Amino acid sequence: MLGNMMFKPLLISSLIEHAAQYHYDTKIISKNVNGSFVETTWLDISNNAKKYANALKALNIQPSDRVATMAWNNHRHVEAWYAITGSGMVCHTINPRLFPEQLTFIINDADDKVLMFDQTFAPLIASLRTAIPHVKHFVCMSEYDATIAELMPDVKFYDDLIAAQTATFIWSKFDENTAAALCYTSGTTGNPKGVLYSHRSTVLHSFSICLPDSINLSSNEIVLPVVPMFHVNAWSIPYAAAMVGFSLVLPGPDLDGKSLVELIDQYNITVALGVPTIWQGLLAYARTSKTELKSLTRTIVGGATCPPTIISEFKERYNCETVHAWGMTETSPLGTINNLKAKHSGLSEEEKLNVRLSQGRPPFGVSIRIVDQENGIHSLRDNEQSVGHLQIQGHWIVERYFNQDKHTLTTDGWFDTGDIASIDRDGYMSLSDRAKDLIKSGGEWISSVELENIALEHPDVAMAAAIAAIHPKWDERPILIVKKKAEGQITEDGLLDFYQNKIAKWQIPDRIVFVDNIPISGTGKMVKKDLREKYRHILSL
Ligand code: AMP
Repeated sequence: MLGNMMFKPLLISSLIEHAAQYHYDTKIISKNVNGSFVETTWLDISNNAKKYANALKALNIQPSDRVATMAWNNHRHVEAWYAITGSGMVCHTINPRLFPEQLTFIINDADDKVLMFDQTFAPLIASLRTAIPHVKHFVCMSEYDATIAELMPDVKFYDDLIAAQTATFIWSKFDENTAAALCYTSGTTGNPKGVLYSHRSTVLHSFSICLPDSINLSSNEIVLPVVPMFHVNAWSIPYAAAMVGFSLVLPGPDLDGKSLVELIDQYNITVALGVPTIWQGLLAYARTSKTELKSLTRTIVGGATCPPTIISEFKERYNCETVHAWGMTETSPLGTINNLKAKHSGLSEEEKLNVRLSQGRPPFGVSIRIVDQENGIHSLRDNEQSVGHLQIQGHWIVERYFNQDKHTLTTDGWFDTGDIASIDRDGYMSLSDRAKDLIKSGGEWISSVELENIALEHPDVAMAAAIAAIHPKWDERPILIVKKKAEGQITEDGLLDFYQNKIAKWQIPDRIVFVDNIPISGTGKMVKKDLREKYRHILSL
């Protein structure tokens, strides 16, 4: 033998072991369902995770069994993640905002043996019980609560379970490719599909998001993951937190602008992560309050296109950088993230903003390409103008959905994201649409994202969704559904005028419809499918 290096499997338990040892007194602040705060440390989280691992063993839960959580971002939830994954079980995070039929579908599909839930969700869980007969244990993530015990007589309480155990537990050793966590896609068409993350993919993904050209995370940060732990594992922040030992502030159920501004100011948060609708809510409140968001150095925005107004308002008013990232449940989620390169330093602020608006570059470990399926051309950054189907490969990208025999890749091994995009010479990816949201007018594509971003520049517009409406001559034409700001006065003609000279005339929407509310999905995205159903015939009426 020529000699070799030690082999240690990449296991999630090594993250919490590291945090307990080297960042034992770093604080984890958590907001309870009742609004009170709990302050713990990485050592407390690790000890409780071990106690809960002992409790799961006492309940006879076996390796690879699925343990589900329906919970907000809080300290018990983080403890449970480490207990479940560290014992070789699979942590299935459930999005409580799904419809009851979708919830029963995914709980049964996952074959969950334990269902943990925050007090908020007790009535929902109680109403689902008869439809989910395989669940053996229901665990309410709180101290004893008489109302919940009455509603569900066989319920167990997390605090009682861990109080009965010791903090001595040796984390299991197994292959790093073992499944660790399960998350279902939002399933806008058909049933949701499960994506199964492995220990290896999770640890590698955590390394990646900490890198300077990614989110740039270190033990110096105080991080607020507004993105829920049931939305692609809160973008892996609870894992990265243990890896580099930063402080977490977990916001519990209150994700409105006022609650978030108060958290940022009270706990000197330096980095916050969430979808654009969260930041729109936060900025709207911040404008009316005296906050300067002094501690906040950057916000990470992903999950939907980041409107330019969010980037400029954070920068101009609060001197806070906005980092735009793209990803999906199938990609763990980091696919691309936007940070400038040295060669951009000479650009004007406006030019920099232009670069920042794209979804960013892939980190090491991920490759992306654009495929023009109509012509069968694979254009690998050879033509910046070419827009096509975005495909991806990498260490933390799905190969096969949960419970499916066939893999889900192209014949040459890439995952087709369902997004339409272009990629420039440096790898910056600009997403123009979901394939199913594209608007095709007289054979020409129109990007709904571009139309929405222009509308959002208007000071009276709170939200805007561009969709295709059926047109007798052009097949499809764009129409825009708009929610005005509370004080907004804008009229249809006024907003149509606003488009003049900003895009080609034929791309300007045919109609603007003002509504009180635009439907938002469980993960904070506009539900265009519902809007299309309602308005697609509006031009042929
Ligand atoms: P999900 O699996 O629910 O997180 O949804 C993933 C989808 O969200 C992607 O395929 C994109 O269509 C969309 N998405 C995620 N991040 C962005 C972004 N930064 N800009 C535009 N769309 C995004």
